[in-house]
Amino acid sequence: MKKILKLLIGTNNKGKYKEIKDLLPKYIETYSTSEFNLKSPKEDGLTFTENSIIKSKYFSKKTKLICLADDSGLEIDLLDKNPGIYSARWGGKNGDFNKAINKVYRELTKKDKNWKQKKLRARFICALSICYLDKEIASVLGVIEGFISYEPKGKNGFGYDPIFIPKNRRKTFGEMSSLQKYKIDHRSVAFRKIKKFL
Ligand code: IMP
Repeated sequence: MKKILKLLIGTNNKGKYKEIKDLLPKYIETYSTSEFNLKSPKEDGLTFTENSIIKSKYFSKKTKLICLADDSGLEIDLLDKNPGIYSARWGGKNGDFNKAINKVYRELTKKDKNWKQKKLRARFICALSICYLDKEIASVLGVIEGFISYEPKGKNGFGYDPIFIPKNRRKTFGEMSSLQKYKIDHRSVAFRKIKKFL
């Protein structure tokens, strides 16, 4: 298999773009969707994997480059695995992460007024797919298990980082340095799996 030397990173989310770029081997020349002025496609898949393939094929066809795209989100067991594939959408049109976090707490209270007395299982999931035009080259899934924090903590990272405590840790992702987070998070787990296709 030929090595991939040029790769489009198919995300319009700056936090994820930075993290993905940092994980890639340095010899790969990367391109971002903003360089091509591309909007994101409609994510109408039913799973993280389907949505990552939709994005990857869409961006590849628009640019004629091989594209690595991800779809990720947070599953909370008490919320029947929501926000799940709707994680970005819970932040509203402007992707307001405070709004998304408030919605999580609101929905938890609706389900169970005493949720703070319980340990709430949750996990971050990341699907990564590499496609060239309409062809799927690889697709993998990375997961990190953890719990929901009773209040948001930390200013690092993005999205739901301030409310997620990985299993066997005390700090939220929002309290960890990006280096600490990258070592264990769902995206790096998926990356280790997809590396052999690069
Ligand atoms: P996507 O762009 O459709 O994959 O949206 C993923 C959404 O899930 C993001 O906008 C965040 O809200 C959330 N998310 C995914 N990965 C992370 C993470 O590492 N930390 C915090 N939130 C994340």
